[in-house]
Amino acid sequence: MNPQILFFIFIAILITKFLFDTIINALNSKHFNDVIPDELKGVYNKDEYLKSQEYKKVNHRFSLLISIFSIVTTILFFLLDGFAYVDDWARQVSSNTIAITIVFFGIILFANEIISIPFSYYRTFVIEENYGFNKSTLKTYVFDKLKGWIMMIVIGGGLLALITWFYQITTTNFWLYTWGLVSFFSLFMNMFYSKLIVPLFNKQTPLEDGELKIAIENFANKVGFKLDNIFVIDGSKRSTKANAYFSGFGAQKRITLYDTLINDLETNEIVAVLAHEIGHFKKKHIIYNLILSIVLTGFTLYILSLLIGNSMLSQALGVETSSFHIGLIAFAILYSPISEITNFFMNALSRKFEYQADDYAKNNFESEALISSLKKLSKNSLSNLTPNKLYVKIHYSHPTLLQRILNLKK
Ligand SMILES: [Zn+2]
Repeated sequence: MNPQILFFIFIAILITKFLFDTIINALNSKHFNDVIPDELKGVYNKDEYLKSQEYKKVNHRFSLLISIFSIVTTILFFLLDGFAYVDDWARQVSSNTIAITIVFFGIILFANEIISIPFSYYRTFVIEENYGFNKSTLKTYVFDKLKGWIMMIVIGGGLLALITWFYQITTTNFWLYTWGLVSFFSLFMNMFYSKLIVPLFNKQTPLEDGELKIAIENFANKVGFKLDNIFVIDGSKRSTKANAYFSGFGAQKRITLYDTLINDLETNEIVAVLAHEIGHFKKKHIIYNLILSIVLTGFTLYILSLLIGNSMLSQALGVETSSFHIGLIAFAILYSPISEITNFFMNALSRKFEYQADDYAKNNFESEALISSLKKLSKNSLSNLTPNKLYVKIHYSHPTLLQRILNLKK
C-alpha cells in the first residue's frame, strides 16, 4: 500500500462516520412526532409535549449544523496538509521529542476548543436558556472553560509526556507501561474524583439531617449497605436538569445527589433512585465496568503498538519525519471504526446493567416510586419519549423510559 491510498482511507473513514451518524440522527428525528405510548401518557401535558418536540427539533438541527461544520473543516485540514504545518511549528519551538509532542497536541486541541466556543456558547445561552434549563452565568461559563483548560494542561499534558517518554525508552513495549499508567490513573480518578476534581467546579455538602436522610439510611440499613457519605451537589448553579451518581469504592464510596433532584422529587422517589444506584453497586457493575474498560484499553494500546512505528502513517498525512504524535493521530482515525463497534457493545451491556439495577430497586424498595421518579426526570429534561430503535441500540446507555417502565411493571 502506498501513502496516497492510506490518505484516502483516512478520508473515507471520516466521511463514512459522518454519513452514518447523519442517517441515524435523521431516522431518529422521523419519530419526534410519534404518538406517545399509553404507558407514558401522563408524562407531559399538551403544552409540555409541544415544547419537548420543539426542543428535540432544535437540538437535532443544531447538531447537524455542528457535524457538517466539523466534517468540512476536518477534511479541509487534511487536504491542506494541516498536520504538516502544526508539526513544523512544534519543531520550531523545541527539538526535544516530548516537548514537540506536547506543543503539537496543545495547538490542535486548543484550536479545536477555540473553534467550538461559539457553538458551546450558543447551546448554553440560547438553546438551553430558551427552554429554561440554563442557570449558568457568563462568569461561571468562562471560569469553567479556564479551569477545564488548566486541568487539561496539567493532567492531559502530564500523561502525554509520560507516554511519549515510555515510547522513547521502550519502543515496542511502551504499550504495557502505558496500559499500567492509564489503568492506575482511571482507578485513582474513580476513587478520588469527588474529592479532587468536583470541588474545582461545584460545592458539595453532606446531606443534612432530616426526613430524607432518615429514609435513605433506613433503606441502606435494610439492604445491608454501608453508606457514610451522602453528598448534595449544587447542580442548580448550571442547569435545572437533575441527576444522582455513585463514585469510588471501599472507604471512598459516596453517593452524590444533585440539589435539583432533591427539589424535583418526593422523598420516596429519591430513595427509589438511590435504591437503583445501590443496585449497581450490589451487582458489582462498577467493578465490571472498570475491569472491562481496563481490558479494552489494553487491547487498543496493543493494536496501537503494532502500527505506531510505521513511517507510512506520517507520509499519508503529508509529514516527512515520522513521529509518535503523528502516529497517534493516524491511529485514532484508523481505530475509530473499531471503537464504534466496542461502544455499541458497551452500550448494550450498560443497558443490561440498568435493567438489573431497576430490578434491584423493584425487589428491595418499590417499583411505583421509581417509575414516578423516572417520569418526572424525563419530563423535567424534556427527553425524547419515542426514540428510533436503531438509534437507541447505538447511542443509549440506558433503556428508554418506556422499556424501563414496562420492565418495572413486569
Ligand atoms: Zn443506572
